[in-house]
Amino acid sequence: MKLELRNSLSRKLLRAVLLSAVAVGLVLSCAQIVYDAFKTKQLISSDAQRILRMARDPSTQAIYSLDREMGAQVMEGLFQHESISRASIGHPDDGMLASKNRPKIALPTRWITDPILGAEQTFSVPLIGREPYSEYYGDLSITLDTGQYGQEFVVDSIIIFVVGILRALAMGFVLFALYQWLLTRPLMNLVQHLVRINPDRPGEHKLPMPDGHEKNELGLWVETANGLLASIERNMHLRHEAENSLQRMTQYDFLTGLPNRQQLQLQLGQILEDAERQQRRVAVLCLGLDDFKSVNEQFSYQTGDRLLIALAERLRGLPGVRARLGGDQFAIIQPDIDEPYEAAELAQHVLDALEAPILLDEQPVRLKATIGITLFPEDGDSTEKLLQKAEQTMTLAKSRSRSRYQFYVASIDSEMRQRRELEKDLAQALEMEQFHLVYQPQFDYHQRRVTGVEALIRWHHPVRGIVPPDRFIPLAEQNGSIIGIGDWVLQRACQQLREWHDQGLTDLRMAVNLSTVQLHHNELPRVISNLIQIYRLPPESLEVEVTETGLMEDIAKATQNLHSIRRSGALIAIDDFGTGYSSLSYLKSLPLDKIKIDKSFVQDVRQDDGDATIVRAIIQMGKSLGMQVIAEGVETAEQESYLIAQGCHEGQGYYYSRPLPARELIALLRRDGLLETTRSMVL
Ligand code: C2E
Ligand code: CA
Ligand code: CA
Repeated sequence: MKLELRNSLSRKLLRAVLLSAVAVGLVLSCAQIVYDAFKTKQLISSDAQRILRMARDPSTQAIYSLDREMGAQVMEGLFQHESISRASIGHPDDGMLASKNRPKIALPTRWITDPILGAEQTFSVPLIGREPYSEYYGDLSITLDTGQYGQEFVVDSIIIFVVGILRALAMGFVLFALYQWLLTRPLMNLVQHLVRINPDRPGEHKLPMPDGHEKNELGLWVETANGLLASIERNMHLRHEAENSLQRMTQYDFLTGLPNRQQLQLQLGQILEDAERQQRRVAVLCLGLDDFKSVNEQFSYQTGDRLLIALAERLRGLPGVRARLGGDQFAIIQPDIDEPYEAAELAQHVLDALEAPILLDEQPVRLKATIGITLFPEDGDSTEKLLQKAEQTMTLAKSRSRSRYQFYVASIDSEMRQRRELEKDLAQALEMEQFHLVYQPQFDYHQRRVTGVEALIRWHHPVRGIVPPDRFIPLAEQNGSIIGIGDWVLQRACQQLREWHDQGLTDLRMAVNLSTVQLHHNELPRVISNLIQIYRLPPESLEVEVTETGLMEDIAKATQNLHSIRRSGALIAIDDFGTGYSSLSYLKSLPLDKIKIDKSFVQDVRQDDGDATIVRAIIQMGKSLGMQVIAEGVETAEQESYLIAQGCHEGQGYYYSRPLPARELIALLRRDGLLETTRSMVL
């Protein structure tokens, strides 16, 4: 910023001071001049009186003796004075004794002094004889030419005037310098500092206190300005923070701090643009927690939140862009991959990273998730399509088998169409008698014989052949047809058990799987007790298998139903144990008779120390709670010997037999003598 001298305050001050000083100087000079004029007049008359006094005696002498010569001499003497222009001695009646004239002196100042002083002034004195007579003889009169006096007066006036003006000017300049030094300079200095202040950080740069002005108005000004700047900075800071947190709220997920869906779509849009230019692949992974609902129900929503936060933490440690899509769904984007297998590796990496247990309410919980994967450019060219298909794939993968990843491929659409067809066919399957049951034996390690069988449903589709239960049970659960199907399974299993009991296998037990939907159905306990009565079954020969996840989904309803079932005398087993988030306290409060160790732990018992530990821990726990423990998925002799060594009560798996139709199974068991007790085995 540049200050023009023309506009400077000092200049204004200078002008004002000069004008007023000049005006005052003028007035004062004029007064002085008037006074001088008066003094000059006085000087003229006092000079005249002095001259008259000096010439009076000789003039009296001359007129007394009527001596013209002497009168002339007096005239000569008087005319020695330069300013005398006329002089005379004489009696008013008798005429002049002596007189003399000379012309007035021509002076350039006359035009101004004549009006003030008069061009000439005449003075006279009476000539009187000595005492005691004191006779009047006549008058001596002189006329003074004021020209000389006037000239001096003019010169003096000019000097007074000039000095007055000069004094006013000097004062003006001194004031100007003082003002410049005291105000303009420090003010300009402040202006320069103000210019340097960064408007974004006004408090960063303080205005310097001008030296010697600490206590005056300027100092006060600087202090106030600095205070103002600091509070502006504070306010700006607060506003920035508010803006930032608002932005965070609109772009980031409140709970986990990860970008939200909108933010992810923006980022993904950018990533896709770049990838298109560089002709690279992008992988979009959509991750959904398995059984998150049951965590919320079993623990609390706060615990569920903690789980999500812990999951977000794990994801943060992984490469790529991460976001929370909502609920228990997250997205991971890998911006540059060459081959699809890299996406698969990333997905496996993510699943592995979630494996390490998280402590929830002092209980270790393993996170399990399912991932759906889409690839750019193969599966779509827009953010919406890629995300939507990845989510779809994840949901689909979840309904089949959890804790895995799956790619979206073009065929997934046709698979979904197939699903819909299957659903349609499923609605008629029961009516068309397309279902049948197969049975898998349960081998008792203590008695060394088969003491029970598990009923497993099979659907013989007229076109597709055998459809595995993993494929159609979730469909049946979704459209509710599982209730009818489940009732049919229970009825068929009880009927079969009655037949076997009638054939002499009186202590054979029948295990039937219950779906989550059945478990929460009000009618279930009544259906079971009716069947027990209709088929005259010893109640403890019927066993229902429920899953942890099924239990936890609506723990209150499930608990109520289980207690009713227990009252009818049937046994209750918990299936797939170890894969859900069950807590010990719940297990204790539920009326459970049996724990069924999930086959995933049993299968790796010889290769994986972790799984061996889990199997051992489950067996210990089941025993300490007074429950039976059965291992499923036993396929080898080594697995069996480990289970026996750990004190497991029963085993089930291909090692003993695959699930078989009733007649085949009994034939096989009879052939191998597995139905009779071989007491020779000592355990
Ligand atoms: P699940 O209750 O865990 O049943 C055990 C599954 O493991 C059966 O598969 C069985 O064939 C299989 N299996 C048995 N031994 C071995 C082995 O040694 N190795 C391996 N790898 N697998 C073995 P399946 O019959 O395909 O049934 C799958 C699931 O479908 C069942 O899992 C159960 O959850 C459901 N399911 C089957 N029948 C019914 C039913 O009648 N009602 C309901 N609600 N669900 C059923
Ligand atoms: Ca089962
Ligand atoms: Ca199982």
